[in-house]
Amino acid sequence: MKEDYYDILGISKSASAAEIKKAYRKMAIKYHPDKNPDDKEAEEKFKKSAEAYEVLSNPDKRARYDQMGHAAFDGSGGFGGGGMNMDDIFSQFGDIFGSAFGGGGGFSGFGGFGGGGQRRAKGSNLRIRVKLTLEEIATGVEKKIKVKRKIQAPGTTYQTCPTCKGTGQVTRVTNTILGRMQTASPCQSCGGSGQIIDKKPSDADAQGLLLKEETVAIKIPAGIVEGMQLKVSGKGNEAPGNGIAGDLLVAIEEKEHDYLQREGDNLHYDLYISFSEAALGVSKEIQTVSGKVRIKIDAGVQSGKILRLRGKGIPSINGYGSGDLLVHVNVWTPKTLSKDQKEFFERMHGDENFEPNPEKSDKSFFEKVKDMFS
Ligand SMILES: [Zn+2]
Repeated sequence: MKEDYYDILGISKSASAAEIKKAYRKMAIKYHPDKNPDDKEAEEKFKKSAEAYEVLSNPDKRARYDQMGHAAFDGSGGFGGGGMNMDDIFSQFGDIFGSAFGGGGGFSGFGGFGGGGQRRAKGSNLRIRVKLTLEEIATGVEKKIKVKRKIQAPGTTYQTCPTCKGTGQVTRVTNTILGRMQTASPCQSCGGSGQIIDKKPSDADAQGLLLKEETVAIKIPAGIVEGMQLKVSGKGNEAPGNGIAGDLLVAIEEKEHDYLQREGDNLHYDLYISFSEAALGVSKEIQTVSGKVRIKIDAGVQSGKILRLRGKGIPSINGYGSGDLLVHVNVWTPKTLSKDQKEFFERMHGDENFEPNPEKSDKSFFEKVKDMFS
């Protein structure tokens, strides 16, 4: 009987995405091969938790698993018997290690797993920037971006490296005062891949690679924040031979909005109304990320009032609700007055209706700001 994925990660069936990731990270660090050299049991646990994470971190797969259990993946190219291999784990989830293993694993220091010390070269990562409007951020968006990446040139063939006979390593035996010492180092001729180029087309570079423009679809989740980086696995430069492709790293930038200012998940909008509108009340159109909405301003509104439109902000990137749209009411004072207007206001001098008379319930500007952040 195959072990339950939730049990493997030690979490409940209702665990959130963040809890799943946290639990996996804990397991992955605990059973990481760098920490447990030559420990078959640790390796097994490391692989199992990666497999559990692979399924539970993907909403579709998780839903299928919740419904059908392991049967959901039998015979469908899932993990049927063999489970995942180490290369897959590092290439898919390498980033989860963060700084715990010096920049996220890659292929350093896990000789002994997989190919018996053979290193699979990894193509270099590509970096691009994507600029998004607030509207795109509010809904999430799929961007199709043209990327120039190195790919294996069609027609390139490889042969086993004669220097290391395909092992990717050369061993040297030296005599020291402590006895004979055997040291292994990556083969210089093939860079550790065990293969060298046999034939390649004339337009390919020395590694048998070509630069090609490709359109890559990038799914951008709602609520993303400027400065975040997305990773599209395997869409960086390819590596020669049996190497694996690098990743495409997408840096997120936010375009300035004409009317809205973002602050976390909340948005701010400055609304200007006239003296008479403030005195009589008015209905106004407000720009939001999902189109215009009409709001009612009560008669007697004070300048500086903040109206909160719940849920009209940006959805949380973690999927917990949305921020609010805060409308700041500014009463516009005319800079010049006609003769009639001047007379009107002069008549109002001393009228007690025009005397400032804030009630206890009219919060000061500072109290309002304090409220907004609490
Ligand atoms: Zn070699």
